[in-house]
Amino acid sequence: MLVLVIDAAHAHHLSCESGPEGLTPHIDALAARGRRFSRAYSNNTWTLPSTVSLFTGQLQESHGVVTNQHVVDDSLTLLPERFREAGYHTGAFVQNIYASSVHGLDHGFDDYHYYSITAGPHPYTAFGDTARWMDAHADERWFLYLHVRRPHSPYDPSPLALASLAPGEPLGSDPRDDDLMRADSRLPDGATDDERARIETLYRANLSTVDDDLADILRRAAHDPQMLVVLLSDHGEALGEHGHFGHGYQLDEENLHIPMVFAGPDVAPGVDDSPACTVDVTQTLVELCALRALPGPLAGTSLVPRLHGESVGDGRPIAISGRYNVGAVPRQGVLHGRLLLVLEADGTSSLRDLVDDPGGAHDLTDAHRDEAARLLDLAERRRESGSGLAERARVDMSTHDAELRALGYVR
Ligand SMILES: [Zn+2]
Repeated sequence: MLVLVIDAAHAHHLSCESGPEGLTPHIDALAARGRRFSRAYSNNTWTLPSTVSLFTGQLQESHGVVTNQHVVDDSLTLLPERFREAGYHTGAFVQNIYASSVHGLDHGFDDYHYYSITAGPHPYTAFGDTARWMDAHADERWFLYLHVRRPHSPYDPSPLALASLAPGEPLGSDPRDDDLMRADSRLPDGATDDERARIETLYRANLSTVDDDLADILRRAAHDPQMLVVLLSDHGEALGEHGHFGHGYQLDEENLHIPMVFAGPDVAPGVDDSPACTVDVTQTLVELCALRALPGPLAGTSLVPRLHGESVGDGRPIAISGRYNVGAVPRQGVLHGRLLLVLEADGTSSLRDLVDDPGGAHDLTDAHRDEAARLLDLAERRRESGSGLAERARVDMSTHDAELRALGYVR
């Protein structure tokens, strides 16, 4: 089976969601033959804790890998370890340091390949390597994890993808391109409307590029009716919708809403529009592949009944956390149905409707007092459970400075 993570993809931009027609044809084809969760959300807002949540089924306050100086230690059991003990050959091809062996995310893989953006084999070779790995293990049961960096910054699309979206505007033609490509915190004074439009074009072209990069792998998957494929992102990406760029700290719709598609045997094609989240994927794969349960505390709910077409309505509240830093208090969110409560660092909170008002213009706390109080209590308890986690044992990341700078994580 194949788990495919496209990094920092806000679902909104995919053609099968609300994006421009023809932008992501290969992902759209996967969604068309599978089950698309149109309201999927990441439990975390950046790669490392999100990937650990995907592989443990735990929220970050439970798995404890919350800052970029934390690593997965031996006390945590990762999903690939369960696949390996069940007789699957396990392989990983990873293009983001925060989903890599640097942070202990190679546990459980027989074959592990990390493609740095600054050193070693060119990251693009990951696609051919992955396809060859699929061929080499065609007669075995396998678990394959492919984590691709795009559309994550830098917004460095292929010339073809950019030309199709913005003919006559080659990348680099604007002196601000370098900042726009690595938006995030490099636009402290914000962006003009023209610059925002250009960032969106670059980002969408990056998404189109990765869709094209995945064409061969997705075609191979489509030709094998027994192959289970899961495609998701680890978090979304802000393009100035609320004045912010990138991801990590904000809990707006664009930071949380991710693509999520399951395709393969026993998956009823269609669209599920109830909320789902990252840790649900873990529980679902454990059930679908009859693996031994992961140790808790597990936070997800298996999506298997929903893969068969069952409806769950609003479901249960989903916990979401912003990025932890030493000495800082992260934002906490609780999503229930269409309502998202956000607890700010200073203790204030707001309640928004993510479906009718994805821009978050209206605070609905007064209109839904009981629900707001209930979700606020959940958020406060989660904040309490994460207290002190950022300060725990850390690793030195200074040797990775060049790579983190290239990815836009440090200035
Ligand atoms: Zn990421």
